[in-house]
Amino acid sequence: MAYEVTATRKRPQRFEDLVGQEFVVSTLKNAIEQGRIAHAYLFSGPRGVGKTTSARLLAKALNCVHGPTAEPCGECDNCKGIAKGSSLDVIEIDGASNTGVNDVRVIKEEVMFPPTSSRYKIYIIDEGHMLSQSAFNALLKTIEEPPEYVVFIFATTETQKVPATIRSRCQQFNFQLIPLETIKGLLAQAASEMGIEAEDEALFWIAKESTGSMRDAYTLFDQVVAFSNGKITLAQIREKLGLVGVDRINAIMQDVLSKNNGEALSKVQALLAKGVSIDQIIKDFTEYFRSLLLIRKGVKSENVIGEQISSFPADIINAYNEEQLEAALDMFLNLYRDIRYSLNPRFELELAISKLSKLRYVASTASVIEQLARLKNDLINGTITPLNPSLADQKSVEPEKGPAVSTVSASSVAAPVEEKPVEVVAPEPEPAPAPAAPANNWNVEDIKDLLPQGTQKVENTEDGLVLTFNNKFFYQMAYRNLVNVREKIQQRTSPDLNVVLSYSENIMDTPATAPVEAAPVVEPEPEPAPVSEPVPEPVQAPIEAAPAEPIPSEEPTAVEEPVETEEPEVVDACACEKPQGPAKMSEEQRNLLNDLMLCFDGREER
Ligand SMILES: [Zn+2]
Repeated sequence: MAYEVTATRKRPQRFEDLVGQEFVVSTLKNAIEQGRIAHAYLFSGPRGVGKTTSARLLAKALNCVHGPTAEPCGECDNCKGIAKGSSLDVIEIDGASNTGVNDVRVIKEEVMFPPTSSRYKIYIIDEGHMLSQSAFNALLKTIEEPPEYVVFIFATTETQKVPATIRSRCQQFNFQLIPLETIKGLLAQAASEMGIEAEDEALFWIAKESTGSMRDAYTLFDQVVAFSNGKITLAQIREKLGLVGVDRINAIMQDVLSKNNGEALSKVQALLAKGVSIDQIIKDFTEYFRSLLLIRKGVKSENVIGEQISSFPADIINAYNEEQLEAALDMFLNLYRDIRYSLNPRFELELAISKLSKLRYVASTASVIEQLARLKNDLINGTITPLNPSLADQKSVEPEKGPAVSTVSASSVAAPVEEKPVEVVAPEPEPAPAPAAPANNWNVEDIKDLLPQGTQKVENTEDGLVLTFNNKFFYQMAYRNLVNVREKIQQRTSPDLNVVLSYSENIMDTPATAPVEAAPVVEPEPEPAPVSEPVPEPVQAPIEAAPAEPIPSEEPTAVEEPVETEEPEVVDACACEKPQGPAKMSEEQRNLLNDLMLCFDGREER
């Protein structure tokens, strides 16, 4: 038997077999069963989704000897003739090559003769939108009032090109793109019918490439089968069709993430050497970043993402924020446009891969301006907020720009409440409030270093560990980081321990906890620094820094000692001088500002 392409072999012969067009099918079947047959139908929708097939099914339904019936037998001469395309009463016209008014004139003459052997004379006009204006005009009257035995079915991919006068005389059905999963299922069925083994990912790829068109899917499937030797694998497809594939891009992105850009570039060279085209690499990278962006935005449907979510490693998904992924997508889309005019497309590709290493530092102008404005405010007010985590991270990979920012971000220098710009150097030597009573076999001392900056009070209550702040900023910072802190505290104490944040202005400024790494802050200076000299970590630096700290107190604060009594809640704030305003900006702060300017300067990518 002669070879038949899969699209033809698998062409649906019953309404039930038509996939993805449930609405069209049910409406047509109902109309036939109730005997409401229109003079003219317009089937519109993307290519390869079943328009012509539906037209033939409708023809069968109308002309079957047992009909009109919603379930044509497929056995009678009429049904067989229509399936083979040999029925004299079902006339298929290719609108693309019969566009003129003369072609239509022939139709007009023919319709005067009744069908030879069937109930209806059916005209299926494919690519209906290709008819000329005059051809449409010539048809108007015939479509409106044809002899009762004539039915017109127009199939078109471009409804808007069909004149409104024609559309208004037709019953219109919109065909939908077929879902990826459905296509994949049908491909799997076709493969098993042919006794061919097929990898799931390979079928997924074919279904994705066909972008909702069943005919495209079958055509591509046939092509793949032709070189597959009885087993369809994604590796083979990639090899033969010159594709990159998600896992190879994953490998390149892993190199980029681990700052091994040289290796990433070598991998791209290797792809080119294997014969993968530059166009294809750019296309695949574009799809890759699109998928990442959709995943990042919370899209769960793999049909939409076009890739199995499990193909993307978590570290790559989490490495970039939406803004950065948008930037990457934008870069590759532009690159695809630009390579047409490029001196050397390969250089453009290499440049893009090289730029990927800086993707993590991409920030929009708007967010940079926002950060700078906040920094300026903070400096004027005498409060310095920690950099946001992503910036801090970025900074720490650029050590040559100077240590100031990373120092700041790591230890989060800050003075207390915004309204009263205070630079506390040492807390009052008064007895501090006791951290809450320890629980089972751990005590607050154990987790001291885990408590967020600015924690004023720690209580172990029924609700869990309550951390109280009197500074909104610290409270908010801690709140943002709560999940992390809770997890770390649980690791060290008990997995059930809840951690709750609370905010109370009644608690005074002496921290319940001293910061952990206070030591490196102050250089051992020969001259004891006066109280008003601000240091980067002035707030809660007292205890560990003690040897160098000329604190005018007899004893370090008794802060961390777990005390049984829970009473002394209120402790006096520090009594030291409170420097205010920009005049008090220290050397370090000025350095920090300069440094940040530099840092932002270098970051503008787009
Ligand atoms: Zn029949």
